[in-house]
Amino acid sequence: MKQLQMVDLKSQYQRIKPEIDAAIQGVIDSCQFVKGGEVKTFEAELAQYLGVKHVIGCGNGTDALQVALMALGLKPGDEVITTNFTFIATVEVIALLGLTPVLVDVDEQTFNIDIEAVKQAITPRTKAIVPVHLFGQCANMEPLLQLAEKHGLYVVEDTAQGLGAEYRFSNGSVRKAGTMGTIGCTSFFPSKNLGCYGDGGALFTNDDQLAEQIRSLTNHGMKVRYHHDMIGVNSRLDTIQAAILRVKLPHLDEYNRARQSAAEKYNAALAGIDGLETPVTASFSTHIFHQYTLKVKNGQRDALKQHLDNEKIPCMIYYPIPLHAQKAFEPYVSENQQFTVSEKLCGEVLSLPMHTELDDEQIGFITSAIRKFFV
Ligand SMILES: *Cc1c(COP(=O)(O)O)cnc(C)c1O
Repeated sequence: MKQLQMVDLKSQYQRIKPEIDAAIQGVIDSCQFVKGGEVKTFEAELAQYLGVKHVIGCGNGTDALQVALMALGLKPGDEVITTNFTFIATVEVIALLGLTPVLVDVDEQTFNIDIEAVKQAITPRTKAIVPVHLFGQCANMEPLLQLAEKHGLYVVEDTAQGLGAEYRFSNGSVRKAGTMGTIGCTSFFPSKNLGCYGDGGALFTNDDQLAEQIRSLTNHGMKVRYHHDMIGVNSRLDTIQAAILRVKLPHLDEYNRARQSAAEKYNAALAGIDGLETPVTASFSTHIFHQYTLKVKNGQRDALKQHLDNEKIPCMIYYPIPLHAQKAFEPYVSENQQFTVSEKLCGEVLSLPMHTELDDEQIGFITSAIRKFFV
């Protein structure tokens, strides 16, 4: 059997090696390492794929989130509502900019931000909501966008785990994750659904003025060279990474289908086990399985993880600690806030290997080891 890994980047690379190697060599030959032509072309191609007007590359997904909040002109003391169950980057940048992160609990089925909890967290100081399309499926955007509209709030979508997922509105229209709010942000970290070979990220928007602002912010606040109209950052997508992403983007849908197919096989093989819940796909979104995350009931998660560790089967806990319980975020949490769902999930979640190269033999091996644990 091929060696089990959480993510198998090497096998994926082997299948597209000649194109990738040529793309990298092309950039080296051009010596246009920063702001080369491949970056503009990739931005246009991704914009076309997403059905959004502007895509602006940047250094990584965390920077994308930071620049999005900077572009909206938020001021210290402004409140930004986000989920209590996500990767730290989402909330880190809010605090870093002197804004006030307001954490809210999540929906138990989808792991995504609870719209009712968002509603209750809105105050006169609220300026933006940052939903995360966690593990590869969209947060429930329609009611969230309605709330944002009603209260005049910006929506910044964290699409780092959801690139290519689609949301279905009640009128039947379908939109790609990251293109529904004011600004969408993504990451091309190697293990994401569209990963490059280092760090990379991007922002998306349909707003011409915001796009110009974002482009300038990622390049030291410059529009005209050496004229700085605002305080910016240095956060650009490297040309080599853009060239790699241009090779991989045409494969994104096929990669996401491979993940869905692996998830279906996991679901079938793990069906009907008492005390084990396979991932739920919401009616309003496709699921592109950035992670395949089980819920292990009855306090058995750590024992199952130990069992898989013993069998040399990789598995991970995303995420072990809800954000409100992280030391760094103590100042932003008040005593009367309740996070019962995310607290419970942190004790139940277990993510299995998930990538584009999983084969039937590997899935069979992993799922029979899990079945053995429950007999
Ligand atoms: C990966 C990730 C980020 C950060 O992306 P980087 O490119 O690693 O900076 C932000 N939010 C979520 C939900 C992520 O999974």
